[in-house]
Amino acid sequence: MSSPQQIAADTVVGIHYTLTLDSGAQVDSSVGGEPLLYLHGHGNIVPGLEAELTSHKVGDRVMVTVPPAKGYGERQPNATQAVPRHAFPPGETPRPGMQFGIRDEDGDVVPVWVAKVTKDEIVLDFNHPLAGENLHFEVEVVSIRGATQEELRHGHPHGPHGHDLH
Ligand code: ZN
Repeated sequence: MSSPQQIAADTVVGIHYTLTLDSGAQVDSSVGGEPLLYLHGHGNIVPGLEAELTSHKVGDRVMVTVPPAKGYGERQPNATQAVPRHAFPPGETPRPGMQFGIRDEDGDVVPVWVAKVTKDEIVLDFNHPLAGENLHFEVEVVSIRGATQEELRHGHPHGPHGHDLH
């Protein structure tokens, strides 16, 4: 397999990144840990960041501000729903920020987040916690390689020891 020099569709890219919001609050960072691996062109990361990284090379540092429409979407009002606490699967302790999937009327699994937990109720929010936010990414490209056939079939990268990331 030839070794790609630039980020393009179907390359597995390793990045270090720090994500901050307009408020200056840092919400996530890989710095000091393992780089994030993603499969370029497969929607593994938000569209605004993925588009900006195309054609970059190892060692490039990229600063990009992604608006909500190309990030986690605009925040929809009235997208919360309170459910009784006993509706939550037993054995799971609901905590704010927890994500899970529920089936809608069409049988599709949609993501939902726990917004609030009270004694009797859990408030669910269908907005991503970062919906409505401008996302300020500071990225360093640390690796680029071609994807394996298995990774392309799965639509995500696999770790150095096989499928243990998933
Ligand atoms: Zn997989």
